[in-house]
Amino acid sequence: MHEYSIMVDIVNAALKSIENYDVESVQKIFLDVGELTFLNPEQLKFCFTVLIKDNILKGAELEIQQKRAEIECKSCEYKGPLEKQPEEDHFRIPRISCPKCEGEIKLLSGRECILRNIKMTLRDENPKEQKEQVSNTS
Ligand SMILES: [Zn+2]
Repeated sequence: MHEYSIMVDIVNAALKSIENYDVESVQKIFLDVGELTFLNPEQLKFCFTVLIKDNILKGAELEIQQKRAEIECKSCEYKGPLEKQPEEDHFRIPRISCPKCEGEIKLLSGRECILRNIKMTLRDENPKEQKEQVSNTS
């Protein structure tokens, strides 16, 4: 399953990025997923739940933000979102060509699957002590 191997990488990246913090719990993982990845968000969420059940990420929620693909034309100056083809042929994959001149295009984004942010709670070592210090100085 494609989603599973992607999620393994994402979970590993998340674990690596928080390993230097004293993490109490992780609430949310934010993921940017390009529309041309054709990854199924439900599958991603399912794999995520399976992959985090035995580590510090356990209980975290996965928030997926779908990103539109962006293209740049090699012939004319067009730069912008990829235009979806009419539904007539029922193809999932949009034709990759310039909407203005039908020229060859370069894909700027749309195939990425990026770990954007992690919302977590850090263990506060001495919250009581800190509070006392504040009241002493006032
Ligand atoms: Zn063009």
